[in-house]
Amino acid sequence: MRLSESFTKPLRQPPKDADTVNHALLSQAGFVHQLMAGVYSYLPFGLRVLRKIETIVREEMDSIGGQELLMPVLHPKENWQKTGGWDSVDVLFKLKSRTDREYALGQSEEEIVTPLVMPHIESYKDLPAAVYQIHWKFRDELRSKSGILRGREFFMKDMYSFHADQEDFDRFYAESKQAYLKVYERLGLTAKVTEASGGNFTEKISYEFMILTDAGEDDILYCEQCDFCVNVEIAKEKQGNTCPRCKKGKLQQARASEVGNVFDLGQKYTKDFGLSFTDRQGKKEHPIMGCYGLGISRLMGVVVEKSHDDHGIIWPEAIAPFAVHLVALGDDKDVRKAADKLYADLDKAGTEVLYDDRDESAGVKFNDADLIGIPNRVTVSQKTIDQQSAELKRRDSKETELVGLKDIVKKLA
Ligand code: ATP
Ligand code: MG
Repeated sequence: MRLSESFTKPLRQPPKDADTVNHALLSQAGFVHQLMAGVYSYLPFGLRVLRKIETIVREEMDSIGGQELLMPVLHPKENWQKTGGWDSVDVLFKLKSRTDREYALGQSEEEIVTPLVMPHIESYKDLPAAVYQIHWKFRDELRSKSGILRGREFFMKDMYSFHADQEDFDRFYAESKQAYLKVYERLGLTAKVTEASGGNFTEKISYEFMILTDAGEDDILYCEQCDFCVNVEIAKEKQGNTCPRCKKGKLQQARASEVGNVFDLGQKYTKDFGLSFTDRQGKKEHPIMGCYGLGISRLMGVVVEKSHDDHGIIWPEAIAPFAVHLVALGDDKDVRKAADKLYADLDKAGTEVLYDDRDESAGVKFNDADLIGIPNRVTVSQKTIDQQSAELKRRDSKETELVGLKDIVKKLA
C-alpha cells in the first residue's frame, strides 16, 4: 500500500478527548475513528490488525474442534424471556419496532445458539458439539472510557459447547483454556488466569484471562511463585498474604484487563429451552453447556497499551498491519526508482509493505513510521543507494543496519 494513496493519514495530534493510550495512538495513527463513546469504526490499517487477531483466534478454536457459524445480532424478545435475561441482564440493549415488536441486540448468544442446535442433538452420539462465531456484540455499558477496551459495540469471539456428561465437559473446558493461552501467547501477551465461582446463578466455575495493564478495569491478586490468581472483587485474600495454593509466594495486587472469560453453564440453558438427548442408557438428559468469550477488539487495544513508547505503537509481528514500512527520502529519481523496485520485489515475495512515497520531509516520515508502529522500517536515500543498500531499523530497537538491496527481500521474508 502506498501511503500517498491511503485515504487515512497519520494525524498531527491525538483527539482531545482521548484519555487512554490505545484511544490516542490508534486514532492518531489512523487505525480507528470514534463515532461516539464506546463506538468505533475500524479503518483500513485497524481492520488489518483486527483480521489478524481474528485469524489467530479462529485457528485456535478450530484446533480444538470448534465449528464456525454466524448468528444474528437482532434477537426476538421471546428467547430472552425464556431464560429470564430480558429482565435481569442490565447491559441488554432493547429496541421496539414500528409494529411494537420488541427485540434485543446480541450481547452474548446462549439464547440463540441453544434452540439453534436443538434439531441436531438427539442422541449421545451427536455430542460433544462446539460452535463459535466472531461477530459484533452490543452492550449498554454504563461507562465507556478506556478507548476500544470497553465498547458499547465491540468485536468478540463467542463459542458454546454441549456435552453428554460433566467429565466430557471438563475435558473440553481444559482444552479450551489451553487454546486461549495459546492465542494470547501468539499475540506476545502473557495472560494470568483467575479461577472463580461465577457471579450469577447460572454459573459454576469460570476462568477469566487477565493481562496486566493500568488501562484495565479489574484488580487481581496473583502469586509471585505459582499460578494462583483471583479477581479482587470476589477474593477472601489480600495483598501481601501468603499464597493459599503453594503456601510459599506472597500475593501481589495489580490492575488488569479481562481478555477472555469461560463459564460452565451447567444445564441452565439446555433446561430453559428443553434441549435434551438420549443417553447411553436410553434415558433423556439435558446436555451440559459451556460458553467461551474472547474480546478481539479489546485485545487490539490491550496490545497497544502493553506495546508502545513515547513515539507510537510497537506492533508484534504476528498482528502488525504490515511487515515493512518502506521510506523513500527525497525526490531524487534514482532514489525513487530503487524504492519503487524494492516495493515491487517485496510485494512479489509476499511481504506486506506500507510504502511512504509521499512528498514529505524525513522528519515527518520517520515520526509517522514510529507512530504507526510497523515492526521493520526500511529507508532508501541517496546515501544508501550510493552503497547499493537500504537502511533497516526495527521499531523496537534504536540500532540501524545497512543491508544490500539484493539481500533485503530475503532478509525480510
Ligand atoms: P467485563 O468484566 O470486562 O465487563 P464480561 O465479564 O462482562 O467483561 P464476557 O461477557 O465474559 O465479559 O465477554 C467475553 C469477553 O469479551 C471479555 O473477556 C472481554 O474480553 C470482552 N468484552 C466484554 N465486554 C466488552 C466491552 N464492553 N468492550 C470490549 N470487549 C468486551
Ligand atoms: Mg468478567
